[in-house]
Amino acid sequence: MLAVRYDLPRVAASVSKDDLLRRPPGMYRFRELTPLDAGEEPITLGEGGTPFLPLPRLGRHLGMRHLFAKDEGQNPTGSFKARGLGLALTKARTLGVKGLMIPSAGNAGGAAAVYGARGGIPVVVVVPRDTPQAAVAEAIIAGAHVFTVEGTIATAGRVIAGIAPTLGWFDLATLKEPYRLEGKKTMGLELAEQLDWQTPDVLMYPTGGGTGLVGIHKAYEELAAMGWIKASQPRFIAVQAEGCAPLVKAWEDKAETTTPWENPVTDAPGLRVPGPFAGRQMLKILRETGGHPQPVSEAAILEAQKLLGRVEGIWTGPEAAATLAALCLMKEAGEVDSGTRVVLVLTGAGIKNPPPPLPPPIHLEGDPDRVLATVRQAIAR
Ligand SMILES: *Cc1c(COP(=O)(O)O)cnc(C)c1O
Repeated sequence: MLAVRYDLPRVAASVSKDDLLRRPPGMYRFRELTPLDAGEEPITLGEGGTPFLPLPRLGRHLGMRHLFAKDEGQNPTGSFKARGLGLALTKARTLGVKGLMIPSAGNAGGAAAVYGARGGIPVVVVVPRDTPQAAVAEAIIAGAHVFTVEGTIATAGRVIAGIAPTLGWFDLATLKEPYRLEGKKTMGLELAEQLDWQTPDVLMYPTGGGTGLVGIHKAYEELAAMGWIKASQPRFIAVQAEGCAPLVKAWEDKAETTTPWENPVTDAPGLRVPGPFAGRQMLKILRETGGHPQPVSEAAILEAQKLLGRVEGIWTGPEAAATLAALCLMKEAGEVDSGTRVVLVLTGAGIKNPPPPLPPPIHLEGDPDRVLATVRQAIAR
C-alpha cells in the first residue's frame, strides 16, 4: 500500500494555527496536509468543515459530561465519503485517468459519481443489489454507470478487479491509491482544531473498510509531529455490527489481521464489509491506543438511532447510530465514566437510508373541534 508522507517540520514552519482561521471553512483549509500540489485546484462541492456538536441532552441521559459528535452527515452526498472521494478524484484527474471504477456499499459509489460529474471524469459504480435507493439514485443522477451484483462490496470488488485492467480504467477500491485516505484524514485534522487542539479520551468510529479510523489516527500523528497537539492518541473504538464483525473475531483470536467474515448480515450498509482492507492497520491502532473493537446488535442500532433523534434532533444513519449503541454498552460496562471525553463520529446522514420502523403520523380530518380533540389527545401523550 502507498501512503502519503509529508515533510512535517517544513509544513509546521510554513503555516500556523492562526493562518487557518483566516481561510474559508472546509477540508482544504488544511491544504498543506493534503497531497494537492502548488496551484492544483481541488474538485470541490464544499466538503468538510462539518459541525462539532456538544451533546448535552444525550450526555445527561447517559450520565456523561463531555460527549461530542462530529456530524459528517452534513457533507455534500450526506457522508464523510465526500472528503475521500473528492480528493481521490482530484488527484485522478491531475494524473490523467481515462475513467474510474469503484466497488461500494453505497455512499462511496455515490460520492465517486458526484465528484466524477463535477470533475468531468467517467465513473463506473458497482454495488450490492440491496444497496439503499438514495445512494444508487445519487450515482445515477450524477451520470455514473451503475451496476449491481449479488453479494457484498467484496463481490463488487472482485468484479471490478477482473475487468478494470482490460478496460484501462482505474480500480478505485479502498486503499488502491493513497489519496482517499488523505481526504478522510481531514476529519481528524478538523476534530483536533474543533477540540481546541486536544485529543478526546475516546474516539468511537463505525468501521467498514477502515480508512476513516486509520485516517483520523494519521491526522493526530501528523499534528503531533508538527507540535500542534500533544502526542497522546485517544482510545480508538472500532464499532461493528454483530452480524459482520471481522475485527471482533480477529481481536478475540489475538490475530494480526482479519479473515473474511462469512455471511455478513446487517442493515447498516457501511458496516457490511466482510474483509476490511485496513484490518491489520486498525488492529494495530486499537492495540496501541488501548482501544478495542465493539460489536453492537441491530436492535441496539435502531434504539440508538431513535434516541439520538429524540434527544438531540440528529437523524443519523445506522452506521453512525452504532457508535452510540456501542457507547451505551461501554458505559454500562464501566469502560467510560461521567468525566470521559468521548467523540462519536457520525459518519452519515439518516436520510440516505430507508427510515427505521416508525409509528405513522396521525391523519387530521373532520370539523375543527374534531381536529382540536385529536391533536390535544396526541400531544398529551
Ligand atoms: C463507508 C462508511 C462507513 C465505514 O467507513 P470506513 O472508513 O470504510 O471504515 C461508516 N459509515 C458510513 C455512513 C459510511 O458510508
